[in-house]
Amino acid sequence: MENKQKENNTIKAHKLPHSADISAVRLNQIYIGKILPNKLVSLNKHVKGKLINKDKLDKEDSMIPVKVVKITLPYGLELEYLEGKYELVEKTHDIASFSLDDVGREFRIHALLESIKQTSGPTIFTLFDGSGTISAKSFAGAGNRAFPELEEGMAISAMLQLMEYDNNLEAELVSFKRLEESKGEQLKRKIKGAAEEKAMPSDVEFFIKSDILDKLKPKIMLFAKIVKKAILESRPIILRHHADCDGYCGGIALERAILPLIIENHNNSRACWQYYRRAPSKAPFYEYADVVKDLTHSLDNKERFGRKEPLVILVDNGGTEEDIPGIKKMKLYGAQIIVADHHYPGEKDENGNIPIDPYVDVNVTPHAVGGDGNYTAGMLAAEIARFINNEVRDIEILPALAGVGDRSKGDEFTNYLRIAEDKGFSHEYLKKLAKTIDFEAYYLRFIESRGLVNDLLGADINKQKELVELMLPDMTYLEQEQLKASKHYSVIDEKESVVIARLDIGKVNRRGSYPAAGKATGMLHDWVVETRKKPVITLSSGPDFITVRATEDVKGFNIHDLLKELREKVPHGFIEGGGHENAGTVKFIGAAKEDVMVVVDGYVNRF
Ligand code: MN
Repeated sequence: MENKQKENNTIKAHKLPHSADISAVRLNQIYIGKILPNKLVSLNKHVKGKLINKDKLDKEDSMIPVKVVKITLPYGLELEYLEGKYELVEKTHDIASFSLDDVGREFRIHALLESIKQTSGPTIFTLFDGSGTISAKSFAGAGNRAFPELEEGMAISAMLQLMEYDNNLEAELVSFKRLEESKGEQLKRKIKGAAEEKAMPSDVEFFIKSDILDKLKPKIMLFAKIVKKAILESRPIILRHHADCDGYCGGIALERAILPLIIENHNNSRACWQYYRRAPSKAPFYEYADVVKDLTHSLDNKERFGRKEPLVILVDNGGTEEDIPGIKKMKLYGAQIIVADHHYPGEKDENGNIPIDPYVDVNVTPHAVGGDGNYTAGMLAAEIARFINNEVRDIEILPALAGVGDRSKGDEFTNYLRIAEDKGFSHEYLKKLAKTIDFEAYYLRFIESRGLVNDLLGADINKQKELVELMLPDMTYLEQEQLKASKHYSVIDEKESVVIARLDIGKVNRRGSYPAAGKATGMLHDWVVETRKKPVITLSSGPDFITVRATEDVKGFNIHDLLKELREKVPHGFIEGGGHENAGTVKFIGAAKEDVMVVVDGYVNRF
């Protein structure tokens, strides 16, 4: 009882921040002040006031608690000395509560020191408190490490002065103290809890009703949670997508959800260049060439800026057996990897697991729940985007556009198309747009080109329409010339139940110019389908590859069966390949071409 009494009598005194002026002083608030000569007390180096009861003062104390009894602006302050025990109130703030209006003011935060980066000027400390992240600079001479006693991972109580740079919020680290062990642990637990809560995905309705989506929902939620958590933890995100229309739609849908959250977390628009990168992949799988780039980039950033291991998001690639080596390599360096793909993932094991599953943090694919490639990666990603950020904008037409690009069929596609049409985008226009994106993707190759791609995918609808109008005639001309050549040099074998079109694509396609071999094959295939009105298989062979297309009514056709047979019958042919069941590529060595063709002919003649 007595103890409690004592505690209640303790005076709670505040400390006026270093840089605050008299306008920050509150009437009746108790501050800690320093005794000066002539009945004056200073609250900081700018603010002092007159003591009204100096007689009560115990001379030995230089710091005393004083109550503000009168404020007469601009600079008059009357203070009353309070007798008794006092303790300093350490008011802490959440990083997320800071805004540009707070620039110039000082705040105390309890935070974890995420990373330390030494520049040629100041030292930059990245602080995270579970609500947000802020960069705090400190200058100890050009290129000199400020506060060398600070180490990454420390829990500290830091005094920050907020600053503005280029319309973004930054801070100066004014002072700090290390939190005691128990307080540090408490902070870490709090941060973990807050981060878990903040990383909870939004639970939204899907754009359309679909069994596939309902069954995939737990995985979609997990995908969204991993992304949100990475953003909160300032984990760099590498978004890889196949460089075709479907892949671009998926990549951009996620990008539109992710970037605003990164900016919000860092309170800084430049953060979306520091913590996020999108990269198109030429192959529909995560090939070594891409892995090497991502790995080099991540390791450099880790070394130079103290960045964490990245989260790699694979869209419209990443889901097949061919992806395993690349993913394993990236994992070896501590990356997290999540996948949204619709390519044929390979045969499930006896437990119904897909081959890639054990190697990734989550794999969202329609094949896991009885769906197929008609539910495309762009559709998946657009649905996931709203679970990451329910305020994401300009993604409503992307599922339909993705479906047009990948020639999707079925109820899901039809429903997405209806949404796009309601928004004023006709099927005809989407076809032109999909074509334009493929055309542009051909020239972009592995370049990110955030602005251009963003416009093309509808950030600026007028620009999009202008781009389509501008490029369509060129594209159409090149395609028509290619089709003329392909038609002339192809051999069409019309059998009773199926038409087989053969093309020596190596001889009729101009290397390094649009349309590429795959596209040229698709165009010939479409033309045969349209003119023969029968099931069609198109085989287009180069010196060391064959691109295959089959219509869905060629019952039982699966390029993966063909690959298996080739590996058995031509074991010396270095056979590789992949794709969708009825559209893909087989690769082999040039010397094996004749042997390969015999097996391929044998396979297609069965239909
Ligand atoms: Mn696709």
